[in-house]
Amino acid sequence: MKLLEVRDLKAYYFTSAGEVKAVDGVSFDLEQGQVLGVVGESGSGKSTLGSVLSNTMRPPLKVVSGEVLFKGVNIFKMHPEELRKVRAAGISIIPQYAMNALNPTSKIRDIVRDLLISHEVPPDEFAYRVKLARERALKLGLPPWVFDRYAIELSGGMRQRVTILISTLLDPEVLIADEPTSALDVVVQRLVIQYLQDLVSEGSIKSMVFITHDIALVNEISTDIAVMYAGQIVEMGPAEDVMTNPRHPYTKVLISNIPEPGVRIAKKRVEGLRGEPPSLISPPSGCRFHPRCPMAKDICSRQAPPTVHLDGGRRAVTCWLYAGGGEAQ
Ligand code: SF4
Ligand code: MG
Repeated sequence: MKLLEVRDLKAYYFTSAGEVKAVDGVSFDLEQGQVLGVVGESGSGKSTLGSVLSNTMRPPLKVVSGEVLFKGVNIFKMHPEELRKVRAAGISIIPQYAMNALNPTSKIRDIVRDLLISHEVPPDEFAYRVKLARERALKLGLPPWVFDRYAIELSGGMRQRVTILISTLLDPEVLIADEPTSALDVVVQRLVIQYLQDLVSEGSIKSMVFITHDIALVNEISTDIAVMYAGQIVEMGPAEDVMTNPRHPYTKVLISNIPEPGVRIAKKRVEGLRGEPPSLISPPSGCRFHPRCPMAKDICSRQAPPTVHLDGGRRAVTCWLYAGGGEAQ
């Protein structure tokens, strides 16, 4: 069953410097059981996509065109009451910088209680969810006493895990996880990845969009991968296929940058690429990747490449090298 259908989505920031085209023509489907890893450099529009999918965007960000259907219903046209119900139990987001998302002046137990009350969890289910929160806290490596503390009394890593707990407590059908492990040390990062994987495999969470700049991490957790560059998806397909046989020149560079196992370095720059990611106010003409692409041809700077479907439709790649429908020469 299709849980999300994203159709030619465009979402821009309207700033005094101009329109920042952070999401510019994104389309994909998300099915039950799917974990779609969205990967790309910072500034590629991943977090913007996450906030639009969860309908949590704020000005100056606005959806310009396109649709996001949740089980067939356009989330941008939902009645506020309908939307409130969809949040948390339908589409829930673990926001980037999740550690700052908690009300600092509430005890964690009250934050949990308020969540259950605001979503009108019936009395018989209430106790079950409170118990579930305690069980899941342990899985996230959180000691039972966190519930008696205020958010400000907890470390950043604990606050981040509490937010993950809260965002997943009502078992959403679609979980948007935006860099959920970014501020955590490696051991805790493993716990969180395992936690999310378990929720999906036991069917508590029906599907997930996992956003990260770390392609090695995305490979671990995802069934499918979408590679974003300058506000657009340039390649998409089953995770293993994309990782073992990347088609788009940008994906190839990202994968060649994965360090050997055990050598985990947080790299700010992608090596082997000239220049910087482009401005999304005035992105390059034609293929947005052309100024940095080692394979660029004449046409690349003049005309935007088509999206070509390969491997019987399982793969999509937006690049002139595949425009004949075949493989790159
Ligand atoms: Fe490179 Fe051209 Fe393909 Fe863009 S369309 S990725 S510039 S080869
Ligand atoms: Mg981001």
